[in-house]
Amino acid sequence: MPRPRFKRVLLKLSGEVLMGPSQFGIDPDTVARIAEEIAGVAKDHELCMVVGGGNIFRGLAGAAKGFDRASADYMGMLATVMNALAMQNALEKIGVDTRVQSAIPMATVSEPYIRRRAVRHMEKGRVVIFAAGTGNPFFTTDTAAALRAAEMGCEALFKGTSVDGVYDADPKKVPDAKRYESVSFNKVLSDDLRVMDASAVALCRDNNIPIVVFNIRERGNLAKVLGGEGTATIVQN
Ligand code: UDP
Repeated sequence: MPRPRFKRVLLKLSGEVLMGPSQFGIDPDTVARIAEEIAGVAKDHELCMVVGGGNIFRGLAGAAKGFDRASADYMGMLATVMNALAMQNALEKIGVDTRVQSAIPMATVSEPYIRRRAVRHMEKGRVVIFAAGTGNPFFTTDTAAALRAAEMGCEALFKGTSVDGVYDADPKKVPDAKRYESVSFNKVLSDDLRVMDASAVALCRDNNIPIVVFNIRERGNLAKVLGGEGTATIVQN
């Protein structure tokens, strides 16, 4: 059964996706390729994005090395700002209008997060990139994505990762793990299927925002999944 198509969507990209073939940081070629794909769909959609920071710094990893958890999380949030600026730069280079809005005010490099202004940008055809997660430590950019999707009135949250959907077991460890075409929020939570963290999944469930999990590393896939085609899993009520 084809998946539904959505007009106003939030695209969540984990920081790892921006590393490309590298082990750390931002790979300009990968960011440029993803920007091209976004440019290809930006005209037909109202698009906003949340970018992660795991390619640069994760709070939990920092805390494990002895940093205070809250400080480490703020460092992680700052990492997402770098990724947002990289994404903005790549998009603007190819003519896509963008705005970065940061949950931690940083007037020199971005707008502060203002919900109504963000909605207006989207209505005008600009891609809004949300940086600094929720602005609060002890959260993740997955939760930020669910929160912003709800605030922006998005019809769906597209999570671009390096796997092509949600499996009943870890496909890297279990060779015959089965991929779901569609799975309920409650099953994801009860079976701990690790699509996104539990608070993000619960927020999407409670606000009836489907999550479409797909592989963004595969060239051309973003247009396909936004068109309701291609390989992906839809998590819904
Ligand atoms: N972070 C945070 N609050 C938020 C969002 C992110 O404290 O609302 C921090 C947290 O330390 C996290 C880091 O920023 O590890 C990078 O975000 P995340 O791990 O979600 O990035 P991704 O896995 O998507 O690359």
